[in-house]
Amino acid sequence: MSVDKVLRDMVRDEVQRAMGPMAAAISELQAQGAIIARLAGAFGGGAFKRGPGRPPKLLTAGRRGPGRPGRKAGEARPCALKGCRRSARSKGYCSAHYQKFRMLAKTDRLPADWVENAAPGSVKNLVLPRGRAGAKALAESRKKK
Ligand SMILES: [Zn+2]
Repeated sequence: MSVDKVLRDMVRDEVQRAMGPMAAAISELQAQGAIIARLAGAFGGGAFKRGPGRPPKLLTAGRRGPGRPGRKAGEARPCALKGCRRSARSKGYCSAHYQKFRMLAKTDRLPADWVENAAPGSVKNLVLPRGRAGAKALAESRKKK
């Protein structure tokens, strides 16, 4: 028996031992995948509203789990900003406008209608000054603090 064969047998045994539980886990995952697909179908495919060419993002009972306050499962709420067609992600705003919301709050420039969990389409967009004018406005907002 050559050293090569012994080594190969050792590796094979090791791999088989490692793959045993993995194979079980994979088949379990596949079973769960079937359930997820069935759940997504039950929600009428509303969770898959995406542009063409983009892979659908699974919105299933996962990270946040059911019973999250303020929102029913599978309910896609539009962004609070007037004219924004994205769906709300945090506190009634889409991701882009939530970032803007946070930036405005941080720099004490939050207009009165920019509230948390505002009704969809109830918030007027705020066009911030750019360039030198923007830097000046930002400096003034910092001075007020
Ligand atoms: Zn938005």
